[in-house]
Amino acid sequence: MNQMTIKESCLLSGGQGLHSGLKTQLAFHPAPADHGIIFYRRDQNVKIPATWQYARSSPLCTTLEEAGVKLNTVEHLLSVCSGMGIDNLLIELAADEVPIYDGSGWVFYEKFSQVGLAELEGAKKALRVLKPIQWSQGEIQIAATPSEETNFTFSIDFEHDQIGRQEFQFHFTPANYAEQIVRAKTFCREEDIPKMRAACLIKGGSEKNAIILGKQGGFQNIENLTWLNEPNLHKILDQIGDFFLADNLRILGNFFSHRSGHASHLAFLKYLLQERTDAWEIVTLN
Ligand SMILES: [Zn+2]
Repeated sequence: MNQMTIKESCLLSGGQGLHSGLKTQLAFHPAPADHGIIFYRRDQNVKIPATWQYARSSPLCTTLEEAGVKLNTVEHLLSVCSGMGIDNLLIELAADEVPIYDGSGWVFYEKFSQVGLAELEGAKKALRVLKPIQWSQGEIQIAATPSEETNFTFSIDFEHDQIGRQEFQFHFTPANYAEQIVRAKTFCREEDIPKMRAACLIKGGSEKNAIILGKQGGFQNIENLTWLNEPNLHKILDQIGDFFLADNLRILGNFFSHRSGHASHLAFLKYLLQERTDAWEIVTLN
């Protein structure tokens, strides 16, 4: 199996940052094998690779930082790259945040599908889990076991009538990602909205780009919901994006996560890649 990029450069307009509210255009450019996914902040003339060494945990999103220049909310776009098998891409923008669009990965997926993918000279690589790994922090747990495939089992536990405790098992393939994950929108709790607004966050947030879990149970904007378990599906979308920070490699293994989020995904990745070098190897995919 060879590495992939997009067939030609393309633009995506009309997006707005979830937290900053600023309108931004994205330009995507094909990139050669072993380039990886790299963001270019044109306004700062700084390139930031989308890998764990540059990642910072933020409360509500995944942030990359290089030489004091930050880029927020990269996770949905990275998730789509991973989900579609895009290994190499240069992403240009002049803002500190990737636009949120409808709160899912759909707009990126649609754009890359329209422009088409191109195969490169260069074998596709993967990080293969060799030994069981367990990581926890309070109630948050992430574990992995060896596999020749990639499977995510994700459980959440929210004090909310429609959510409560849920578990979803996802067998990762590009077709399954397109069918089950890419359209899952982000979500928030109604009671958190005033706090986030007071902290000058979610300026670009609306009932159009997030599912709002109502204070009294139920959904504030049920017309926006595609699946009843959409928040859990979105957590898997986020995890796939965050795990792609592992040098933009596909990870082969079975993953079990309970109540994890961006900060714990990054902490787990750092534990795996820095402290458990005995527990994985890099392989080429046939
Ligand atoms: Zn998300």
